[in-house]
Amino acid sequence: MEVIRHDVVLVGGGGAGLRAAIAVAEADPELTVACLSKVYPMRSHTVSAEGGAAAVAREDDSPELHAYDTVRGSDYLADQDAVELFVEEAPIELTRLEHWGCPWSREEDGRIAVRAFGGMSVERTWFAADKTGFHMLHSLFQTSLKYENIVRLDETFVTRLLVEDGRVRGVVALDLRTGSARAVLGRAVVLATGGAGRIFPFTTNAAIKTGDGMALAYRAGVPLKDMEFVQYHPTGLPGTGILITEASRGEGGVLLNANGERYLERYVPNKMELGPRDMLARAAILEFQAERGFKGTYGPYVHLDLTHLGEAKIDERLPFVRELAIHYVGIDPVKEPIPVRPVVHYMMGGIDTDGNGATELPGLYAAGECASVSINGANRLGSNSLSECLVFGARAGRAAAAFAREVDDRNEPAVPEQARDEEGRIEALRGKSGGERIVDLRREMTSAMERGCGVFREEDEARHTLQTVAQLKGRYTDLGLEDRSRVFNTEIVSALELGHMLDVAEAVALAALERKESRGSHTRTDFPARDDENFLKHTLVRFAPQGPKLDDKPVTITRWQPEERKY
Ligand SMILES: Cc1cc2nc3c(=O)[nH]c(=O)nc-3n(C[C@H](O)[C@H](O)[C@H](O)COP(=O)(O)OP(=O)(O)OC[C@H]3O[C@@H](n4cnc5c(N)ncnc54)[C@H](O)[C@@H]3O)c2cc1C
Repeated sequence: MEVIRHDVVLVGGGGAGLRAAIAVAEADPELTVACLSKVYPMRSHTVSAEGGAAAVAREDDSPELHAYDTVRGSDYLADQDAVELFVEEAPIELTRLEHWGCPWSREEDGRIAVRAFGGMSVERTWFAADKTGFHMLHSLFQTSLKYENIVRLDETFVTRLLVEDGRVRGVVALDLRTGSARAVLGRAVVLATGGAGRIFPFTTNAAIKTGDGMALAYRAGVPLKDMEFVQYHPTGLPGTGILITEASRGEGGVLLNANGERYLERYVPNKMELGPRDMLARAAILEFQAERGFKGTYGPYVHLDLTHLGEAKIDERLPFVRELAIHYVGIDPVKEPIPVRPVVHYMMGGIDTDGNGATELPGLYAAGECASVSINGANRLGSNSLSECLVFGARAGRAAAAFAREVDDRNEPAVPEQARDEEGRIEALRGKSGGERIVDLRREMTSAMERGCGVFREEDEARHTLQTVAQLKGRYTDLGLEDRSRVFNTEIVSALELGHMLDVAEAVALAALERKESRGSHTRTDFPARDDENFLKHTLVRFAPQGPKLDDKPVTITRWQPEERKY
């Protein structure tokens, strides 16, 4: 088995991963960084981000206000020390990105343009038309090419963390081009593997968002935090789940039900279309339940009307929205409203880290959507995530570099054996005989997740989902695979991803069952009120061979005492 050695091993070539890679390379030119990605980096989900990235830019704004909006948006579950770091560093990171080539849209007078986003008190979302993620990722990628000490291993699928003596030692990965396993050893490992929207049937997330890094950390004993908090975006296209960015509402788009009413007056009268996502998603479902939605092939939907914005503004500010609506639902938003419905978009939860991305496992760091720092708490504000990837990607990269410089212990006798075991596990999947099919288990998992862990949740369904996922894990051991080939064996990848998703889904279901209150995106119909006395705490889910174990940890409150969340 091929063994490669670097100082820092970075898993993920999206916004957080590339930012971390550059941070390591800048921190110390002597360190080498291996950047592993299961797809070519430009195919990471960050590329599809549309609306923008939040950071204080104007005189009417301040870090305090950005922090307050974020904390309130999180329903007081965010760690306020992390939020304070975040709002201070976000403008620095976005400015740096411009120096690296990101073409931020500008006002006539030359200042950076900012747009309104949900739950933000003032306009603070920087954007590059409505293709922000595309431009950000290109700028990061180009910059990463400058550094000779960043070594890319594209199309390399990480399947396991190597751990010895309570420290991470590297990873095992499948080289998709050859079908061979490799050990990539390093003194520090940074996970930047993105979210896990694919555990649900209807999502904006790319097919690659299968929670791999979360499952890798979890299996290595690192807890997952606040997994019950799953963000539904209020405006996805029915059928495909393709996102129609919040920027369309930031630019003035309105939501209408089948009676032509701006129904948000009933739910978030002061903020309307710029209310936070959790509230807007619930409002749409309640309209459907009251039979005030339109009826379509893919279930009920509402209208997002942009027609009053006019062609010139739509083409300048929202060209991608127009393109998507024309291509995917045959509707030109200049002339007609777009059909939309709530869709799974983002995981607030993830690998438990501190403000430097450090996990409980020495040498292991995490950043971006796979991590929970946590600045998002129970509900993320749109446009905070791209900035989060930069701020905490950079911090995790610097911390990993410092760790790698300090430890130089190559005494790792058990590592080769662990790596060979893992190689054996992967090989056993090739053409494995068994009675279960990936597609069936996957479909049963996603529909169970929607039933028990959707926008509205209650005890019996959540428990049923948890039991279903546990049973699916049992059936997973009897998986049958047909493809014996070595080169780009996507069936093996799907099997490995399904294994990761089942772990993540189980953590979500357990956390959703046990949080007996409603907070942010987590709405329990049987416990409709927020309960600070018993639940102002982070949920932790820990791996145990007999099934996941629940734990918790306090929320850090610095300046903003919890109060009722009203908009
Ligand atoms: C359609 C859409 C639009 C969005 N728009 C916005 C927006 O406007 N503003 C905003 O703030 N946020 C937005 N978000 C959220 C935001 O884009 C994401 O949270 C963020 O980009 C995640 O970045 P990341 O670096 O953490 O992960 P990703 O960009 O998802 O990258 C993950 C990386 O990890 C690699 N990887 C994963 N598993 C493995 C493995 N097993 N082995 C090797 N490599 C692996 C992948 O190859 C990839 O390179 C949007 C999300 C979506 C889905």
